[in-house]
Amino acid sequence: MSEKQVHSFEAETKEILNLMVHSIYTHKEIFLRELISNASDALDKARFESITKSDKYKNINDLKITISTNEETRVITISDNGIGMTKDEVISNIGSIARSGTKLFLDKLKDKNESKDSGIDLIGQFGVGFYSAFMISDDIILETRSVDSDKGVRWQSTGDGTYTIEEIERDIDKRGTDIILKLKDFDADDRDSNYADRYNIKRLIQKYSDYVNYPIMMDMPKLKEKPEDKEEFESQIMNSMVSIWQKNKNDITRVEYDDFYKAHFHDYQDPFEVIHTKVEGTIEYTALLFLPKKSQFNFLAPDNERGLDLYCRNVFIMSKCKELLPEYLRFVKGLVDSPDFSLNISREVLQHTGQLKKIASNIEKKVLELLEKKLKNERESYEQFWSEFGESLKVGIYSDFNKKDTLSKLLLFKSSEHKDDHTSLTEYVSRMKEGQEFIYYAAGSDSASIEKLPHLENLRTKGYEVLYFMDRVDEFMVQTMREFDGKTLRSVSQGSFENSDSKEEKIIDAKTNDILNAIKEVLGETKVVEVTESERLTESAVCLVSREGSMTFNMAKVLAESGQDMFGMGAERILEINIKHPIFEKIKNEFDSNKSSDLFKEYSELLYDEACILEGIKLDDPMLFAKRMNSLLMK
Ligand code: ADP
Repeated sequence: MSEKQVHSFEAETKEILNLMVHSIYTHKEIFLRELISNASDALDKARFESITKSDKYKNINDLKITISTNEETRVITISDNGIGMTKDEVISNIGSIARSGTKLFLDKLKDKNESKDSGIDLIGQFGVGFYSAFMISDDIILETRSVDSDKGVRWQSTGDGTYTIEEIERDIDKRGTDIILKLKDFDADDRDSNYADRYNIKRLIQKYSDYVNYPIMMDMPKLKEKPEDKEEFESQIMNSMVSIWQKNKNDITRVEYDDFYKAHFHDYQDPFEVIHTKVEGTIEYTALLFLPKKSQFNFLAPDNERGLDLYCRNVFIMSKCKELLPEYLRFVKGLVDSPDFSLNISREVLQHTGQLKKIASNIEKKVLELLEKKLKNERESYEQFWSEFGESLKVGIYSDFNKKDTLSKLLLFKSSEHKDDHTSLTEYVSRMKEGQEFIYYAAGSDSASIEKLPHLENLRTKGYEVLYFMDRVDEFMVQTMREFDGKTLRSVSQGSFENSDSKEEKIIDAKTNDILNAIKEVLGETKVVEVTESERLTESAVCLVSREGSMTFNMAKVLAESGQDMFGMGAERILEINIKHPIFEKIKNEFDSNKSSDLFKEYSELLYDEACILEGIKLDDPMLFAKRMNSLLMK
């Protein structure tokens, strides 16, 4: 037998414990849901092992959770005869919160702007479920025995920074885990906070854990035949054990779905939408899917795996089966129950089954249909959904070419006509002006900087609407999308302004042409690939646009920020000049008097620098720019 060892919690675990005990005041009751959910997971695993490795797990037919309470000693015990833990497992699972997101969790939890409710939300997201028991306990003992070990283990902590761990004798019949909580004093004014009261526990089980697939047993007073009979107890099942997804849709209220979602997927908010679908035929399955209201703030982090839980006739097979959800729908939570999968199917085999692919594609279709319906009928709530998950759907457009048409109908953008709300592309097209051929978009980090772009001047005059691209993925998405409803999407700062056919008909007078060519010569190929007369400017003198087919300035910026310079392929620059601007008149005069004068060169360079500054591009040589400026000012 090993000695009792004292271990310190890691600094971050300590901090979480401290916050758990001192800062979170509401919803303490969820500790029970968390512990029951852990117990239920442990039973799932035992059942699963019993199918795959039958020799070790013989007497596995009586899987259950047992809860006992004692009002006098104020102790409540939650026991399961599930998979149990070895000593090493206790140390790594219970002794630390070894998650990459822990730091983030702490920051969020400490953030004063976060409401107390969000604290609870975070508990679930980061799997500090077990620790929630410290909100209501002074002292926690965990005793467990794994089938893989011939000893039991006792872990104990008062949540003050250390825990002890020791090996104990524990009979093999006592496979599984007991969690023994020494309860804190309760608030006398609030009977609901007395967790030693068995009726209170019964109420909480029914509220949060009714659907749990295993019986949750508790001793309850037997009905007395005569009032003078002495009180006797009998073990009763506290939960209905009917998994919600196997029930008939019409018998389930929205509140029941919401409660299931919150308990099962660790969210404190009701879901945005629920999809419950049953399919029978060559392929048979039930899917219960939830679209959350809010993205979990770490949902793009790689350790937050996507996927749906997989069950076979109510029996859990695996969590987060990622083959059931495309990447761009990673925010969807839920489960699939199908009798078509055998229980001991491995992840590797699963990947290749046709059934799984079929189910996945049906699920994807269902989700997209629902979103289409929402967009059509419940615009306001769709907009809220969009602000949380829109970016994810955009990623779908460039990751799955086949979904392009369906997904592009679901897109929303802010625009020059919809600065406070959003427009869809269909709506944009319906507002297009007579003679307008393109769907215009402008990229930038926010609407204020987009609205300052000189490139919008003439579009504004013509009354053409411009979409605001403010997500980093937007322009990459457009590369795949290219057009919508037969109309090409066109960047306001790339290529020609309107249709190239009409441009060719335009006669640029020979003199202007000479001047533009001369300016290009001064600037040289490395700076600009072309200098042209601008059709998009009405007030400003110059702007830069990128050559059609090359990258846009914004894309180049996004890539540079993320450290990908794309083999040095930048945006090819075209300098556009507003030849109606008085400055052009000056240049023309200078050109007429002396084509190769220094002043003409200086004007050319300055105009180019000015265009770069307007575009947010760093000047190659700011000193030289200042010098030229000064010399002009002194003239
Ligand atoms: P989470 O359940 O979100 O992973 P917890 O802190 O609640 O986070 O639990 C940490 C881990 O401890 C679990 O993932 C599981 O491996 C283990 N564990 C907790 N409770 C039990 C139990 N009753 N039986 C077996 N293992 C358990």
